[in-house]
Amino acid sequence: MTTAELYDVVVVGGGPAGSTAGAFLAQAGRRVLLVEREPFPRFHVGESLLPATLPILDRLGVHRAIAERGFQVKYGATFHDQESGLEHTFYFLQDKPWPNYTYQVPRADFDALLLEHAQKLGVDVRQPATVESVAFDAGGVTVTAESHGQRNEVRARFLVDASGRAGLLSQKIGRRERIPNLGKVALFAHWRGGWRAPGPDEGNIRIYVFESGWFWWIPLAGDRTSVGCVMHARTVRDWGETREALYREMIRRCRRVAEGLQGAQQVTEVHSEASFSYRNTPVVGDRFLAVGDAIAFVDPIFSGGVHIAMQSGELAARAIDQALTDGRFEARRFTAYERHVWGGLRPFFRFIHKYYEPAFLELFLKPKAAFGMVDAVLSVLSGGAFLGMSWRARASLLLLFSIARVNVWMRRRAGLPVESRLEW
Ligand SMILES: Cc1cc2nc3c(=O)[nH]c(=O)nc-3n(C[C@H](O)[C@H](O)[C@H](O)COP(=O)(O)OP(=O)(O)OC[C@H]3O[C@@H](n4cnc5c(N)ncnc54)[C@H](O)[C@@H]3O)c2cc1C
Repeated sequence: MTTAELYDVVVVGGGPAGSTAGAFLAQAGRRVLLVEREPFPRFHVGESLLPATLPILDRLGVHRAIAERGFQVKYGATFHDQESGLEHTFYFLQDKPWPNYTYQVPRADFDALLLEHAQKLGVDVRQPATVESVAFDAGGVTVTAESHGQRNEVRARFLVDASGRAGLLSQKIGRRERIPNLGKVALFAHWRGGWRAPGPDEGNIRIYVFESGWFWWIPLAGDRTSVGCVMHARTVRDWGETREALYREMIRRCRRVAEGLQGAQQVTEVHSEASFSYRNTPVVGDRFLAVGDAIAFVDPIFSGGVHIAMQSGELAARAIDQALTDGRFEARRFTAYERHVWGGLRPFFRFIHKYYEPAFLELFLKPKAAFGMVDAVLSVLSGGAFLGMSWRARASLLLLFSIARVNVWMRRRAGLPVESRLEW
């Protein structure tokens, strides 16, 4: 055990949330230590970004390095329902506070780039090192981290939990609330030689809904495609054969995916990831706060995770910088941060629940431009909710949800299914 060093902030976790919080704090002149348990580059799920993330990359000063990497550009999202045959492509709008495009990124490269950038800005990175314990007292926090069999203690004035789904603080001093019915498992792999859409649609994420769940189809640069199936955890539990065989079976059942992969080669193993949705508590406390997946995780259908991680990382850095200036770290100083984060997350949670209802999906795939509804949906799908929704956008979404309720009634009268597909 070595003696404690003193930092302003210790960040646990070097994913997008931790790198962003650390980098903004270093930009503000703060002394930051970031502890990441895995060596980078490391594989990670979550490859499709949202346009509202790009202004954060600009403010971090890392956008140019990312653009130069040649990641696949994405202008929209195509949704297809196998049962009804309905399909719609949403294109990100011009004239918004964010651009009308974003990137599809292998996370190993993207996360490594963000962490390197944080390091260039002055963040002290310890990797691979695992935070084992944290102890808060009136004067700060003592963090114990293990690396290559050695334990080190560091002292800091503040702690950021950016440990992702591990949820360090919720596990140690709080709790995790699972969202009922959103208990899912994802099986996914990378392919070479998969189908590509012509022209600017090439980079669109494609979501294929079918009777056993849904697939993501994420075209990456260099003729790679990430193809993942999200299904109910029960489907995986009840499956008697290997996960590879289940993945193949799901591809067979989803016609668009099976056609798109004809002649393609699978170039990675089949990865498996629990994809349940949850909320953790506490989000803030005396001398700590959480960012990214350490706060909550929303079903990945709308690709919001990295945006939520980076946006909460930026907001957190601002709140912590102010607290360091004032020398005050009580939990109530961070309630505005917590409110802001839930305000950004809420529309994603609302949409996820609705999305699994056939009556809503039908409207979603036949959107009407009337009363700003498409604009409001696109703001949510672009990640704009963190910037605050105008009263007009909120009213448009309420109208959309009301029309969906009427559609439930109409479908029932027509003898069409109305039950939520959350029970897949
Ligand atoms: C099936 C699935 C599909 C998804 N698809 C998308 C998508 O298309 N687009 C999208 O934006 N998001 C997607 N996501 C979500 C996205 O992966 C996450 O929201 C995002 O990675 C969150 O970033 P983070 O920095 O909070 O956590 P992470 O990226 O998970 O980073 C947390 C880091 O903390 C480290 N760590 C944990 N515990 C410790 C410890 N004790 N000590 C030191 N280090 C520690 C981990 O090693 C890890 O590197 C998907 C998620 C799933 C499950």
